[in-house]
Amino acid sequence: MNRRDFFERIGVIGLTPFLVSAAGTVSCGREEKFKGKGMNLRYEVKRIFLKHTWTISRGSSDYKDNVIVYLEKDRITGIGEAAPNTRYNETTESTIKVIEKAKELFKEIDPWKYYDAGMEIKNLCDGQTAAKAALDIALMDWIGKALEVPLFKMWGLDPHKTPITSFSIGIDTPEVVAQKTREDKHYPILKVKVGRENDEEIIRAVRSVTDKPIRVDANEGWKDKEIAIKKIEWLVKQGVEFIEQPMPAEMLEETKWLKERVEVPIIADEAVKTAADIPKLAEVYDGINIKLMKAGGLQEAHRMITLAKTLGMKVMMGCMIETSVGISAAAQLSPLIDYADLDGNLLIKNDPFTGVKVEKGKLILNDKPGIGVEKV
Ligand code: MG
Repeated sequence: MNRRDFFERIGVIGLTPFLVSAAGTVSCGREEKFKGKGMNLRYEVKRIFLKHTWTISRGSSDYKDNVIVYLEKDRITGIGEAAPNTRYNETTESTIKVIEKAKELFKEIDPWKYYDAGMEIKNLCDGQTAAKAALDIALMDWIGKALEVPLFKMWGLDPHKTPITSFSIGIDTPEVVAQKTREDKHYPILKVKVGRENDEEIIRAVRSVTDKPIRVDANEGWKDKEIAIKKIEWLVKQGVEFIEQPMPAEMLEETKWLKERVEVPIIADEAVKTAADIPKLAEVYDGINIKLMKAGGLQEAHRMITLAKTLGMKVMMGCMIETSVGISAAAQLSPLIDYADLDGNLLIKNDPFTGVKVEKGKLILNDKPGIGVEKV
């Protein structure tokens, strides 16, 4: 019989950590709760269905197969999510492959050394950052739960400083775009996807319904800088607040040329994945759109925010089509950012989780530990 079993049998465990201490094991009750290394890793694929067919300049979808990760240790379960994106050579299958590979790693991981653990996750393979994000989110959720604090509190952030999130409208016919805009009356800021032939029609359809601020995401859709500048000059007259990824990520010279000539901020999305991408973008873009799925998790996203701010760049946080797991995780960092586009969970019909809420567009963090998420 080990010492813990002995104290449990005689009914003193939990009664007084001092007794345990006096017996020479550990010095406090909390430490007694957490023992050794190793976490059990399991996962499940969740098919999430969109309320409307989701179209951006790259293609359309009606559902997504995301992977939910569970990390268990000492009767605490950390939850994470991977939303794989074909833009970054990720599929549900490639994500599962990385998570399977990580099982070995997690057998030896000490979650309290979460910085080192995060680095090991980052080094599991090249790319596949959605899988890495799921692992890092679950790890940080576990830490928050073990410490019994929300992550925003662990990072010293004021939950009242969360921004208003925009609500996204995918590419569609002008009639459907106008209809969606009417339905989205509860959201004070809209993000409109453009980047195809009918951009002007789409924006006119939105403006026929509302004069609220709009942000525009071209998803690399404009391939020529002269066309791009004409589009942007027209969009500025329509009251657009900023333009996200107007041109393909690799067209740095052309994008810098645009930035120097237009009045609204140009934000990088596809051009930036991790902190290592930021320095070369500081002169090309006014800001960056950080997504946990591109960054590979919360720890890297935190580093990216710090670096971008140091370089004087605006910081936006965005998302893929995600459940409340991915969105609530990102929301933990949102008191630090300028713009939020954390609406992935609002676009789906069957969110299996509940976490961060949105009231009149503002992200409302709860005081539950970790990422603040529960199963529905
Ligand atoms: Mg984008």
